[in-house]
Amino acid sequence: MSLEDILESWRETAFAEWRPVTGLAVIGLALSVVYIVWQHYFTSDRWVFLLDNANLAIHEAGHPILGMLVPGLAVYGGTIFQLLFPAMFAGHFWRQRHGLGWSVALVWFGESLLNVGRYMADARAHELPLVGGGDHDWTEIFSRWGVLTWDTHIAGMIRLIGLCVMLAALFRAWKRWRSARVSAKERLIRGSGGGNS
Ligand SMILES: [Zn+2]
Repeated sequence: MSLEDILESWRETAFAEWRPVTGLAVIGLALSVVYIVWQHYFTSDRWVFLLDNANLAIHEAGHPILGMLVPGLAVYGGTIFQLLFPAMFAGHFWRQRHGLGWSVALVWFGESLLNVGRYMADARAHELPLVGGGDHDWTEIFSRWGVLTWDTHIAGMIRLIGLCVMLAALFRAWKRWRSARVSAKERLIRGSGGGNS
Protein backbone atom coordinates (compact mmCIF):
# COMPACT_ATOMS: atom_id res chain seq x y z
CA MET A 1 0.00 0.00 0.00
CA SER A 2 1.52 3.31 -1.03
CA LEU A 3 1.47 6.47 1.09
CA GLU A 4 -1.08 7.94 -1.32
CA ASP A 5 -3.42 4.99 -0.79
CA ILE A 6 -3.12 5.40 2.97
CA LEU A 7 -3.84 9.14 2.76
CA GLU A 8 -6.78 8.47 0.45
CA SER A 9 -8.29 5.91 2.84
CA TRP A 10 -7.83 8.37 5.74
CA ARG A 11 -9.57 11.05 3.73
CA GLU A 12 -12.43 8.70 2.98
CA THR A 13 -12.72 7.82 6.68
CA ALA A 14 -12.60 11.47 7.73
CA PHE A 15 -15.62 12.28 5.55
CA ALA A 16 -17.57 9.13 6.37
CA GLU A 17 -20.69 9.40 8.49
CA TRP A 18 -20.35 8.80 12.26
CA ARG A 19 -22.60 6.28 13.92
CA PRO A 20 -25.18 8.08 16.06
CA VAL A 21 -24.98 8.26 19.86
CA THR A 22 -28.09 7.53 21.93
CA GLY A 23 -29.39 9.93 24.58
CA LEU A 24 -28.98 7.28 27.28
CA ALA A 25 -25.30 6.88 26.36
CA VAL A 26 -24.75 10.66 26.61
CA ILE A 27 -26.34 10.67 30.08
CA GLY A 28 -24.17 7.72 31.14
CA LEU A 29 -21.05 9.44 29.83
CA ALA A 30 -21.96 12.73 31.54
CA LEU A 31 -22.45 10.96 34.88
CA SER A 32 -19.08 9.24 34.44
CA VAL A 33 -17.38 12.58 33.81
CA VAL A 34 -19.07 14.09 36.89
CA TYR A 35 -17.88 11.13 38.97
CA ILE A 36 -14.31 11.39 37.64
CA VAL A 37 -14.17 15.16 38.29
CA TRP A 38 -15.57 14.63 41.79
CA GLN A 39 -12.98 11.95 42.59
CA HIS A 40 -10.05 13.93 41.18
CA TYR A 41 -10.92 17.42 42.38
CA PHE A 42 -12.97 16.93 45.56
CA THR A 43 -11.53 13.90 47.33
CA SER A 44 -8.12 13.47 48.95
CA ASP A 45 -7.45 10.10 47.26
CA ARG A 46 -7.88 11.47 43.73
CA TRP A 47 -8.44 7.93 42.51
CA VAL A 48 -11.12 6.50 40.20
CA PHE A 49 -11.70 2.87 41.13
CA LEU A 50 -11.05 0.38 38.29
CA LEU A 51 -10.09 3.04 35.75
CA ASP A 52 -7.03 4.17 37.72
CA ASN A 53 -6.27 0.56 38.65
CA ALA A 54 -6.15 -0.18 34.92
CA ASN A 55 -4.04 2.94 34.33
CA LEU A 56 -1.61 1.78 37.01
CA ALA A 57 -1.27 -1.72 35.53
CA ILE A 58 -0.61 -0.29 32.05
CA HIS A 59 1.78 2.28 33.54
CA GLU A 60 3.80 -0.39 35.34
CA ALA A 61 4.04 -2.47 32.16
CA GLY A 62 5.26 0.58 30.24
CA HIS A 63 8.51 1.02 32.20
CA PRO A 64 10.20 -2.31 31.37
CA ILE A 65 8.81 -2.41 27.82
CA LEU A 66 10.12 1.02 26.83
CA GLY A 67 13.23 0.37 28.93
CA MET A 68 14.01 -2.70 26.80
CA LEU A 69 13.78 -0.63 23.63
CA VAL A 70 15.59 2.51 24.87
CA PRO A 71 17.11 2.06 28.36
CA GLY A 72 17.39 5.82 29.01
CA LEU A 73 13.67 6.31 28.45
CA ALA A 74 12.43 3.67 30.92
CA VAL A 75 11.36 6.36 33.39
CA TYR A 76 9.00 7.85 30.77
CA GLY A 77 7.53 4.45 29.81
CA GLY A 78 4.83 4.43 32.46
CA THR A 79 3.32 7.77 31.52
CA ILE A 80 3.69 7.19 27.77
CA PHE A 81 1.91 3.82 27.99
CA GLN A 82 -0.96 4.99 30.16
CA LEU A 83 -1.68 7.75 27.61
CA LEU A 84 -0.93 5.68 24.52
CA PHE A 85 -3.50 3.02 25.37
CA PRO A 86 -6.61 5.24 25.46
CA ALA A 87 -5.23 7.18 22.46
CA MET A 88 -5.02 3.93 20.47
CA PHE A 89 -8.61 3.09 21.39
CA ALA A 90 -9.68 6.58 20.31
CA GLY A 91 -7.87 6.07 16.98
CA HIS A 92 -9.57 2.71 16.48
CA PHE A 93 -13.04 4.15 17.14
CA TRP A 94 -12.29 7.13 14.91
CA ARG A 95 -11.62 4.75 12.02
CA GLN A 96 -14.78 2.79 12.87
CA ARG A 97 -16.74 6.08 13.02
CA HIS A 98 -18.06 4.86 16.36
CA GLY A 99 -19.19 8.10 18.05
CA LEU A 100 -19.73 6.70 21.53
CA GLY A 101 -16.56 4.56 21.59
CA TRP A 102 -14.50 7.55 20.44
CA SER A 103 -15.89 9.78 23.21
CA VAL A 104 -15.46 7.09 25.88
CA ALA A 105 -11.82 6.55 24.83
CA LEU A 106 -11.16 10.30 24.97
CA VAL A 107 -12.76 10.57 28.42
CA TRP A 108 -10.39 7.79 29.48
CA PHE A 109 -7.46 9.69 27.91
CA GLY A 110 -8.44 12.86 29.81
CA GLU A 111 -8.86 10.91 33.05
CA SER A 112 -5.44 9.35 32.54
CA LEU A 113 -4.01 12.89 32.25
CA LEU A 114 -5.64 13.70 35.63
CA ASN A 115 -3.92 10.60 37.01
CA VAL A 116 -0.57 11.71 35.54
CA GLY A 117 -1.10 15.16 37.10
CA ARG A 118 -1.77 13.57 40.49
CA TYR A 119 1.61 11.82 40.29
CA MET A 120 3.44 14.92 38.97
CA ALA A 121 2.15 17.06 41.85
CA ASP A 122 3.81 14.61 44.26
CA ALA A 123 7.33 15.02 42.80
CA ARG A 124 8.64 16.89 45.87
CA ALA A 125 6.03 15.99 48.49
CA HIS A 126 6.46 12.19 48.15
CA GLU A 127 3.16 11.47 49.87
CA LEU A 128 1.82 8.88 47.40
CA PRO A 129 2.55 5.21 47.99
CA LEU A 130 4.79 3.94 45.18
CA VAL A 131 4.18 0.54 43.60
CA GLY A 132 7.22 -1.66 44.18
CA GLY A 133 8.80 1.09 46.29
CA GLY A 134 10.99 2.20 43.37
CA ASP A 135 12.04 5.71 42.38
CA HIS A 136 9.50 8.46 41.88
CA ASP A 137 9.10 8.97 38.10
CA TRP A 138 8.43 12.68 38.30
CA THR A 139 11.12 13.50 40.84
CA GLU A 140 13.53 11.93 38.34
CA ILE A 141 12.00 13.47 35.20
CA PHE A 142 11.52 16.99 36.60
CA SER A 143 15.04 16.87 38.08
CA ARG A 144 16.44 15.91 34.66
CA TRP A 145 14.58 18.85 33.14
CA GLY A 146 15.56 21.20 35.99
CA VAL A 147 11.93 22.09 36.77
CA LEU A 148 11.37 20.20 40.03
CA THR A 149 10.16 23.31 41.89
CA TRP A 150 7.47 23.73 39.20
CA ASP A 151 5.95 20.31 39.86
CA THR A 152 2.58 21.46 41.22
CA HIS A 153 2.21 24.15 38.51
CA ILE A 154 2.91 21.72 35.68
CA ALA A 155 0.62 19.16 37.34
CA GLY A 156 -2.16 21.76 37.49
CA MET A 157 -1.76 22.47 33.76
CA ILE A 158 -1.83 18.78 32.84
CA ARG A 159 -4.93 18.28 34.99
CA LEU A 160 -6.62 21.23 33.32
CA ILE A 161 -5.85 19.79 29.87
CA GLY A 162 -7.25 16.44 31.02
CA LEU A 163 -10.43 18.12 32.20
CA CYS A 164 -10.81 19.97 28.87
CA VAL A 165 -10.31 16.74 26.87
CA MET A 166 -13.04 15.02 28.89
CA LEU A 167 -15.48 17.91 28.49
CA ALA A 168 -14.75 18.16 24.75
CA ALA A 169 -15.37 14.41 24.33
CA LEU A 170 -18.65 14.72 26.21
CA PHE A 171 -19.65 17.74 24.13
CA ARG A 172 -18.98 15.84 20.89
CA ALA A 173 -21.10 12.91 22.11
CA TRP A 174 -23.94 15.32 22.90
CA LYS A 175 -23.60 16.97 19.45
CA ARG A 176 -23.73 13.57 17.74
CA TRP A 177 -26.84 12.62 19.69
CA ARG A 178 -28.46 15.95 18.76
CA SER A 179 -27.63 15.80 15.06
CA ALA A 180 -28.96 12.22 14.92
CA ARG A 181 -32.21 13.47 16.48
CA VAL A 182 -32.47 16.38 14.02
CA SER A 183 -31.94 14.17 10.98
CA ALA A 184 -34.48 11.64 12.32
CA LYS A 185 -37.02 14.48 12.66
CA GLU A 186 -36.23 15.69 9.13
CA ARG A 187 -36.81 12.19 7.78
CA LEU A 188 -40.13 12.09 9.64
CA ILE A 189 -41.23 15.45 8.18
CA ARG A 190 -40.16 14.45 4.66
CA GLY A 191 -41.91 11.11 5.10
CA SER A 192 -45.25 12.62 6.14
CA GLY A 193 -44.93 15.39 3.49
CA GLY A 194 -44.55 12.87 0.68
CA GLY A 195 -47.38 10.69 2.00
CA ASN A 196 -51.10 11.38 2.07
CA SER A 197 -51.07 15.15 1.58
ZN1 LIG B 1 6.13 4.84 37.01
